[in-house]
Formats: sequence, structure tokens, C-alpha cells
Amino acid sequence: MARVASLRACADRVPGSGHEPSFLAGRADTTDLPAAVSSVSSDVGRVDLWKTTRVQCLWGVNQTERMVYAGGVRLSIFESVHYDDHEEVVFAGDPTSGLRAIIAIHSTALGPALGGTRLYPYPSEEDALADVLRLSRGMTLKAAASGLDLGGGKAVIIGDPKTVKSERLWRAYGQVVDSLGGRYITAEDVGTTTADMESIRRETRWSFGTPLSEGGSGDPSPATARGLIAALRAVAQRLRGDRELLGLRVAIQGVGKVGYAYARLLTEARAEVIVADIDESAVDRAVRDLGVKSVPFDEILSVDCDVLSPCALGAAINRETIPALTCAAIMGSANNQLSTDADADRLADAGILYVPDFVVNAGGLINVSQELRGYTEAGANHRIDAIEQATATILDLADREQITPNDAAIAVARRRIDEVGGLRRFRPAQTD
Ligand code: NAD
Repeated sequence: MARVASLRACADRVPGSGHEPSFLAGRADTTDLPAAVSSVSSDVGRVDLWKTTRVQCLWGVNQTERMVYAGGVRLSIFESVHYDDHEEVVFAGDPTSGLRAIIAIHSTALGPALGGTRLYPYPSEEDALADVLRLSRGMTLKAAASGLDLGGGKAVIIGDPKTVKSERLWRAYGQVVDSLGGRYITAEDVGTTTADMESIRRETRWSFGTPLSEGGSGDPSPATARGLIAALRAVAQRLRGDRELLGLRVAIQGVGKVGYAYARLLTEARAEVIVADIDESAVDRAVRDLGVKSVPFDEILSVDCDVLSPCALGAAINRETIPALTCAAIMGSANNQLSTDADADRLADAGILYVPDFVVNAGGLINVSQELRGYTEAGANHRIDAIEQATATILDLADREQITPNDAAIAVARRRIDEVGGLRRFRPAQTD
């Protein structure tokens, strides 16, 4: 029987769950079944990970031993194209509340891994895993490129935000976050709210983005929109030799929390704004309140504009959509706008300036990170406005090195992780 050091079962972490502490520790040699399974499951063909309370995978031992099973499906973490040497991935379940969560800590080289918790009805556990691995890697780049003392992490909970939320679910999840001792700090994301962060905070102090009334930094969306405006000034400087936004034609895909706030700031700066959304009520609100123009959602990518801002979901820019683009530049809030890194090259070949999402959408992260040092809006805004300079620096580097801004931004982030993250020179006396 295989002995596995890299896969740990810790089912006793949520008190009162009624589950035995040990559940799963195994290795698959040639079959799809783990070699060792606890007595919790009578049907070894269906190892339901989510019926445990918490299974944690810590890497670093031996590739062949690193496998996780859920619902009878082998989750091929290490074969996932999104796996990027993540430090730790935690699977947590609470059957009573229906909690099924995955927390991915990509890197803590620069500090605790801060990233939102996404609550989404993923069609499969593998989709959820792919998303959390991809998003947590992006958070490492975002924090590093923004000069923050933070690592990268992200969490996903599988479920419908309209039906699954309960006090029990948030408290169980809060205990899982707490069990990581501050290595992972959570915040709001798609499907979660500042009120949810407050519920999580009842179990852990590692929940940020709580409401302003509770002393937190509140909804990050206005801060993200402010950061987009800062980045857009650097882009306008590139395109027109002037950082003013007057008359700049900006097309926004998605006028939800960020897109709407961004559209409002743009109209205040007297830019020309065109919006689209699959939700007609969101379009109506923007048109009515802000006086912006709109087009059907399937036309927004090909609208004639200076800057296209994807502010909906990821992968809007891909091999299929790039040929129809008519914009001079792309920058927006959506995470993982490019379907693959190769799309950055396709855009460069098409003569379109693409400014990486993880550089321009860092306003929300910067805002929430200020809670670590005692939140003030003025302090946060000052740091968010620095995104203009960060964007200009990356565009300059790309020009100098004749590389895409995407590669330049990744290089800036990696250099900082190597130089500062590798700094272990001055140890506190008591550890020696
Ligand atoms: P949101 O859910 O409030 O808004 C997204 C909007 O996009 C919705 O109105 C939705 O109807 C619309 N939409 C979805 N698919 C569309 C499509 N194909 N065409 C047009 N519209 C479509 O989310 P949000 O908080 O505004 O975030 C938007 C994006 O920015 C997400 O990708 C999110 O991960 C990213 N982001 C958000 C923040 C933040 O502070 N909220 C920070 C960083 C990144």
C-alpha cells in the first residue's frame, strides 16, 4: 500500500461535523482508484471528497504521488494546463451546509496569498479546479506587478449564489480559511458580497473587504474602476500623446459593478462611451443614468473605438474574436481576458496594444490590501492612482525590449518575486 506524504486528510478541522478525522490518503499506481481509502466510503469506486471536511494537498515530494479524487473523478491537478507549481491546494467540504470549496495558494513568496472567494455554479469539479488554479496564478502576478507585499491565492465555492448561502456555510468556510493561519486571506469576488465577508469574519480574522460600516474597505468595484481610469490615462498618452480622456472612444463589454462605475468615471472625464451587456437591465441603467450609447452584446467587440474594455467574464479575446477587432488598444477589468498567452502575440501582430488585465485591474486588490495597514480611502486612492505609472513603465519596457506588454508585465512580476521573495537574509534572532 502506498504511503503518501503529499496528500493529507484533515477532516477534524471543522468541529461538530460528525466526520471521522481520517479519510483519504492514497496513491494511484495504474488505475483510477486510490490505493488507500478510509472506511468512510463503502464504495471505493466513488470517493466523494466533499463528504470529508477538509483535504489538503501539500506538494513538493514526488510527482507520481500527487493526485486527488472527488466524486469518483480523478482531479488531474498536475496535468492541468493551469497548474503552475502551486504551493498548496485545499479541498474543503461541509455536508450540512453543502459547502464545497477549493482554496489554491499559488505563491506566498512576497506575503500572504490574498484573493477573492468566487461562488459560482461550476458545471463540474474539474471546471472549478481549473478556474481556481488559473485565477490564483493571476493573483500572484497582480500583487507582484503592483508592488504589494502579497502573494497570490484564490478560492472557489461550487454553488448557486442565489440559493446556497447560509450562516452555516460561511462559518464553516471561515473555519477552513482560519485553519490556514493567514497564509490565505479572502475577499469578495464574483458571487460574494461584503456582507458575506463579514459572515466569514465571525470565524477568522483573515477575511477582508468587509463593509465600510464595519471598518473594512467595502465593495472593491469602485476602486477597480478608478484603477482602470489611471491605466487608461497611460494608454491615452500612448495613443494620442495626451493623458486627458476627453473625446476618447471607449467600448465597454459588461456594465456590472466595475463596468458601470468605470463608465460613470469616463463620462465625468467626457470620454465617449459605448456599452453592451447580456443583461438588458444593466444596459438600460447605464444608458438612462449616464447617457452612454449602447450596442447589442454580440457587436461590442467589433465596435469602432480607441479602447475596448472587457469588463465581463474571461477569455473574451481569443483566436476567433481577434480578427473582428477594430480597436487601437484593449484594457479592462475582466480577469484572464486572453484565452491563452498566445493571444497577446496575435494582438501584437494585428497592431492592437493589449495592456494585461492583472496590471490594470489591480485597484480592487490594492484597496482591500490597505486593510492590512489600517484602511483609509485617501491612502488607498493614492496607491490606486499609481497604476498609471505602473502601466507606463510596462509599456516602456515592452518597447525597449521589443516584447509584448503581457510579457513585459510578467517579467516585472517575476523579477520582483525572485529578488524580493528570495530575500531571506535577515532572520529574527529567535528562529536561529
Ligand atoms: P459583475 O458580475 O457585476 O458584472 C459583469 C457583467 O458582465 C454583468 O452585468 C453581466 O451581465 C455581464 N456579462 C456577462 N457576460 C457578458 C457578455 N458575454 N457580454 C456582455 N456582458 C456580459 O462583475 P464585476 O464585479 O463588475 O466584475 C467584472 C469582471 O472584472 C470580472 O471578470 C471580475 O473577475 C473582474 N474583476 C472585478 C473586480 C472587482 O473589483 N469587482 C476586480 C478585479 C477584476
